[in-house]
Amino acid sequence: MDAPLRPTFSRRAAALTSSAIREILKITERPEIISFAGGLPSPATFPVEALQAACARIFADNPHAALQYGPSEGYGPLREWIGKRHGVAPGRVLLTTGSQQALDLIGKVMIDAGSPVLVETPTYLGALQAFSLFEPNFVSVPSDESGLQPEALTPELTAGARFLYALPNFQNPTGRRLPLARRQALVERARAQNLLLVEDDPYGELSYGGDQLPSLLSMNPDGVIYLGSFSKILAPGLRLGYIIAPEDILFKLVQAKQAADLHTPSFTQRLAWEAVHTGLLDQHIPAIRALYGAQCQTMLDALAAHMPEGVTWTRPEGGMFIWVTLPEGMDSLTILEAAIARNVAYVPGAPFYANNPCTNTFRLAFVTVPPEQIQRGVAILGEVVQTALAA
Ligand code: PMP
Repeated sequence: MDAPLRPTFSRRAAALTSSAIREILKITERPEIISFAGGLPSPATFPVEALQAACARIFADNPHAALQYGPSEGYGPLREWIGKRHGVAPGRVLLTTGSQQALDLIGKVMIDAGSPVLVETPTYLGALQAFSLFEPNFVSVPSDESGLQPEALTPELTAGARFLYALPNFQNPTGRRLPLARRQALVERARAQNLLLVEDDPYGELSYGGDQLPSLLSMNPDGVIYLGSFSKILAPGLRLGYIIAPEDILFKLVQAKQAADLHTPSFTQRLAWEAVHTGLLDQHIPAIRALYGAQCQTMLDALAAHMPEGVTWTRPEGGMFIWVTLPEGMDSLTILEAAIARNVAYVPGAPFYANNPCTNTFRLAFVTVPPEQIQRGVAILGEVVQTALAA
């Protein structure tokens, strides 16, 4: 009998690991689990009927174009709309298959093995995964409860960095929003040090109060690559995101996009165009803000009622996540085992750190869980932490 085939994987494939979140999500699919682990938007916010009507319009009006190959840069009218929304020329816009693809494309065109890449502490796990394939040297930028600390960006820290990956709005995983003064200081420092900024902004529209701070892009369009997404304001299954970048960078990204998948699906882009040019999206966003704001408040109230002294957490003004810090010395992975035994789950904090993980942290997602389950789940978490503290 032939010996079984033993593939020789590339060095980068051999180094791949599965996302800790996906592994946990497998457990949390059990119906009895109250899961604060997933980062999914609430399906209650998907504008199903409006999208169904939009699909029918596309098939009635121009089905062949919608089913045909299209330009790598993306569907013209949608590029124009995005450009207008962000105050940039449409030639700076590239549609991507979700903003996760944008992270991959940026990795491809900006990172060599060993290149320094600056990231927040903690940062979005999916970006660490996407960039890791290109074997960077991650450098963690000190951050506090308001987010990234611009004064930490000394010439020594930023030396040779290909870019700084920043999440100024309602960051995944902490829910933090970078205050205006820090945005200004960050952009100034980056400009002075010739440091490219990558601004990942899938949650910017989800400010509960509707107020928005200026994007880093708006402060320095020639020094920022901006990533937008329709996942949290329309539907993530559409897999639709975009990049705004200075022309020379966009040109390279388009080449990488072509090599990756030719272009973002034509049909999906036209569907999004229907949603934006008819005003559906802008009518729809306030309902998402209201729902997520109420869900967040329910969880904040439950944390205040049930968490023992010494536990702290963020108080987001938008987005989908709360970040909890347990007393020093506690391990959120150990607590997770006890929580899962009582049918409650969350994501431990360690995988969100590029270096030196704070193992006493964890992320709570609150938008898909009904309010009474939020209360019950957080009460159980409070008991589990209390028991661990007393042990
Ligand atoms: N960036 C951040 C910060 C995210 O939280 C997510 C989704 N979890 C993404 C990018 C990817 O989003 P998508 O590919 O659905 O646009």
